[in-house]
Amino acid sequence: MQNISEEWRDPASRDGEGHGDGAQGKPRADAERETLMMELTRLVQKSVRESSWWERRGIDCSILTAAFISLPAGFLLLGSSQLLYFLLGLLIMGIAHAVITVKGTHLASHGALSESPAWADFWAVFFIEVCGSFSARAGVQAHVKMHHAHTNVIGLGDSSTWKIPFLPRSVYLFIAPLAVPIITPIVAIGQLKGQSPFQIVRTVLCVCLGFFSQYYLLRCVSGLSCSSALVVMLLCRAMFSLPYIHVNIFQHIGLSMFSATHRPKRIYQMTHGVLNLPRNPLLDWTFGHSLINCHVEHHLFPFLSDNMCLKVKPIVSQYLKEKKLPYLEDGYVSRLRLFFHKYQELMVFAPPITELVGIQ
Ligand SMILES: [Zn+2]
Repeated sequence: MQNISEEWRDPASRDGEGHGDGAQGKPRADAERETLMMELTRLVQKSVRESSWWERRGIDCSILTAAFISLPAGFLLLGSSQLLYFLLGLLIMGIAHAVITVKGTHLASHGALSESPAWADFWAVFFIEVCGSFSARAGVQAHVKMHHAHTNVIGLGDSSTWKIPFLPRSVYLFIAPLAVPIITPIVAIGQLKGQSPFQIVRTVLCVCLGFFSQYYLLRCVSGLSCSSALVVMLLCRAMFSLPYIHVNIFQHIGLSMFSATHRPKRIYQMTHGVLNLPRNPLLDWTFGHSLINCHVEHHLFPFLSDNMCLKVKPIVSQYLKEKKLPYLEDGYVSRLRLFFHKYQELMVFAPPITELVGIQ
């Protein structure tokens, strides 16, 4: 739980202290608001302390291990001449790839897979670079240091990376995401600019190691031709691209946006700018609870594993409701419908900055 103190030092938490302190009564109001976050933090801390290692990390590590264990079966089935077995192999590899590259890279980027900082760094490089074909340094910077620290702050963490306003809405929502496996390593190359020679060499070697290991096994174990191996790799890597992009945009875009100079306290920022989707067995396993039905909890306590986010969900939701704070939830189809019908408004024009009267 050493990261809780870091939470309190991040810019999102500090920002509100920098303005308006001269007004009488403001310091007391700020203290009351900090008390809300501190009180909730204490409740969550208590739950974490009372949890076993199995609950804190074991369950999520086991799901990731299961994904790796399923890979030999996937490679063998992909070598079958029977269509049904081949499709089963494709499905196994696609699901395993999603578990490893979405759930695995996300937890690794937050250092949630190990209590040891050295192991946490190792897992970040392994999952993000070897498995995810992206730069670990750039991934942590974009996700943890920008998106989490500046959630829905315009120009900083406003979830704008997947905004391609010139595309028609159907292409944007249902076709362009299929190119994510191709776009990811290309973006990774661009992100190498400014990194140290050691980091550049490491990232290039790790990305190549991940890519060519899968290619080699598809050729040698599955017995596929060069072009078939590449097509299978693309299909597996793109299998969950649509929900991946959908989840990314559904949970933030269209909610309250904040100005970088007038941002609310952390608890208000996260409760107004983050939304939970309902539980879904497939996405719970592949993406993890923190990206699906516990996204609010994840933004309030980003260092928790998926299973711990699920465990503290009743504590967090009850606390926020008691304090009359929003606890935003909506269905996947409902959000998809909203984005489809209000695409221009949500994706093309700059969103309005939310005026949260009295809490800036
Ligand atoms: Zn995160």
